[in-house]
Amino acid sequence: SKAVHGEVEFLFYSEEMNQRAKEHLRIESELRQALVNKELQLYYQPKVSLRSGRIVGAEALLRWKHPVRGMVSPGVFIPVAEETGLILELGNWVLEEACRQVRAWQDDNLIMTPIAVNLSARQFDARLPERMADVMRRHGVLPEQLMLEITESLLVGGADNVISIMNELVAMGLALALDDFGTGYSSLAYLKKFPISTLKIDRSFVIGLPYEENDCAIARAIVTMAQQLRQEIVAEGVETAEQMSFLRELGCDQLQGYLFSPPVPADDFAQMLREGKRLAFSSR
Ligand code: C2E
Ligand code: MG
Ligand code: MG
Ligand code: MG
Repeated sequence: SKAVHGEVEFLFYSEEMNQRAKEHLRIESELRQALVNKELQLYYQPKVSLRSGRIVGAEALLRWKHPVRGMVSPGVFIPVAEETGLILELGNWVLEEACRQVRAWQDDNLIMTPIAVNLSARQFDARLPERMADVMRRHGVLPEQLMLEITESLLVGGADNVISIMNELVAMGLALALDDFGTGYSSLAYLKKFPISTLKIDRSFVIGLPYEENDCAIARAIVTMAQQLRQEIVAEGVETAEQMSFLRELGCDQLQGYLFSPPVPADDFAQMLREGKRLAFSSR
């Protein structure tokens, strides 16, 4: 009967939810340990210019080397950290570590490109500008050496003071990039209100280039819009030479993706800078 069926379903879901909750709690407590045990690390993925082929920046991406489970993806632990609020501690660790590394590279006489750090919406409170100023001052890092990546959810669902916090950060000399662009709900009119200097086209629209008509149309629209707004445009997740050629012809400024390099440990990124590694354009 219906009732029995419902009951079975209920038991099934509650067991599944129970498992999820347990998994959540486990990840949360292990993440706390990870901070203490220094199991976290930043990897760096180069951004390259589609004009010169040179490295013009990098994105810092969090990695968790779990002693038993091995490498745990941020796709798994960031959502848990967001839910539990642990993202604030993780976020502070990331800022601290990125500044320490930038300073170390500078002391090593490496010609540095700006390092972009991902910020969670929860880090975006009124004290963020002060926290940024503090961490930069302690490490002797200039605002031009960093960049902040934020997501559309912050623009749409964020508090009223989001714009004023952004303005404060920009006034300090920090550039803001809008990550995963096209997956959220921001419109052209919306974007104009925020002091954002860079748009990152989400990987989901890059995948189908140049064969999927819809992806081509979306990429073209985003690039055109960004040019109107005088914003730099970065394509995420570029894996093939065909994608690169298409984006280059559109007038996209920069590319980030496995085609050039996956995210790599700090020393490997420094090595690429030293060697002057460049993107090879296919001759077409
Ligand atoms: P994201 O900021 O959009 O970062 C880009 C993601 O795409 C990275 O995944 C990167 O490894 C991946 N990627 C880059 N190029 C390619 C490619 O050519 N092909 C494919 N298949 N993937 C590519 P990752 O490192 O797993 O990070 C996932 C997400 O976790 C990030 O997406 C970001 O939202 C979040 N995240 C990572 N580190 C941090 C952090 O320090 N703080 C916060 N708040 N979030 C972070
Ligand atoms: Mg990002
Ligand atoms: Mg992204
Ligand atoms: Mg993305």
